[in-house]
Amino acid sequence: MEPYRIKVIEPIPFPSREERERALTRVHYNLFDLHADEVTIDLLTDSGTGALSAAQLAASMTGDESYAGARSFHRFHAAVQDLTSYPHILPVHQGRAAERVLFSTLLEPGQITISNTHFDTTRANVELAGCEARDLICREAADLDQAHPFKGNIDLAALERTLAGPEAAKVAAVIMTITNNGAAGQPVSMANLTAARQLCDQYDVPFLLDAARFAENAWLVSQREPGQVGREPRDVAKEAFRLADGCVASMKKDGIVHMGGFLGLRDPDLAARCEMLLIATEGFSTYGGLAGRDLDMLALGLTEVTEPSYLGARAEAAAHLADVARAADVAVVEPPGLHAVYLNAGRLLPHLPAEHLPGHALACALYLEGGIRSAELGSLYLGELDEQGNVVKPAPYELVRLALPRRVYTMSHLDHVGRTLERIARQADRVPGYRITDCPPLLRHFKARFEPVHAA
Ligand SMILES: *Cc1c(COP(=O)(O)O)cnc(C)c1O
Repeated sequence: MEPYRIKVIEPIPFPSREERERALTRVHYNLFDLHADEVTIDLLTDSGTGALSAAQLAASMTGDESYAGARSFHRFHAAVQDLTSYPHILPVHQGRAAERVLFSTLLEPGQITISNTHFDTTRANVELAGCEARDLICREAADLDQAHPFKGNIDLAALERTLAGPEAAKVAAVIMTITNNGAAGQPVSMANLTAARQLCDQYDVPFLLDAARFAENAWLVSQREPGQVGREPRDVAKEAFRLADGCVASMKKDGIVHMGGFLGLRDPDLAARCEMLLIATEGFSTYGGLAGRDLDMLALGLTEVTEPSYLGARAEAAAHLADVARAADVAVVEPPGLHAVYLNAGRLLPHLPAEHLPGHALACALYLEGGIRSAELGSLYLGELDEQGNVVKPAPYELVRLALPRRVYTMSHLDHVGRTLERIARQADRVPGYRITDCPPLLRHFKARFEPVHAA
């Protein structure tokens, strides 16, 4: 069960079916444009959507808003250093700020970064620095149905081939994303991290973590990895940070705060150059774009998030959501991780070809049937589209992500998702596809407009 009880509540809206239909038409079938007032269960993202603890709220009252050297910074610094061991820690307002500060300092145009999978903002910041972001995901990740325990791993053989090959001199860093958000939130094993670290040592390449979900990765290691089972998640997380030369970290995830992040580094020269850019663009080095109270809440979130009772309950919630989906005959990416459950929309809606966006179709159906907001991860997000928004090259899978905000929804909220999926699955062949009517050139999933395609 959840290791907490509810002290503060927020009512959730229950728009009628008619209101939902009107809302979806008004926003041209783009769920990002809905008002929060029109959403009953919001599973769009687990980023910055968690619930604060009483202790975090109390700490926010003792936040120190001094411009420089705030007591809050020192508490934040101690908490991050205890966890990561990095001597240089720079606060930032969110993960992508750490990426921008680090990559525009570390990278030279024409270089390559290698990752198990770059998250989309990580890739964008590598590309903005004039470099190539290359993903080398392990082969097991391609099979959505197989319950391999560590489908987030990097392909070590491919990594070594690249580090030893003709492009070796261009490789500027290896960045391991834990858990692997771009690959259905699957975890990375300690064995994989250790082997990648050894290759980086052998070929003299910096080894970094994208640590947004470091605690969830540590939990899954402590549950699944031979030789690690039963370890304290916090010890596993500490060891992962110790393996790396530094990290970028969005704390809107496993920091359990609404805003925050940090950049951690071992190299003093690189850290000094990053600090200059931080001061110029984010804020002075002891606040980095955050309020003192944010730093205090983050310091506590970093302790609460590695509690085994919290992580265990979160795993149970994800497992339960996967169970209700399977019971409704909707396949999920196996095995479910912690931050989200990924529905296989392509399999549920075989009557919809990729150009009619089955993932987007299921996301719209979830909203119409149950007021549930989710995120498409299929051809709309990952496929190749032409300027009119026609799918030129489909994504390998058509998925819908049901992300789980931390400490926010109860099992009965998740049961509502299950009942909604049952109703959709019973009449799956009647779910219409969609086509894009207006396609912005960049970040299209946020702003594209759609219309339903009804069968002739
Ligand atoms: C969310 C996320 C980021 C970006 O962080 P923001 O706080 O949203 O800027 C980077 N990497 C991963 C793996 C993420 O999940």
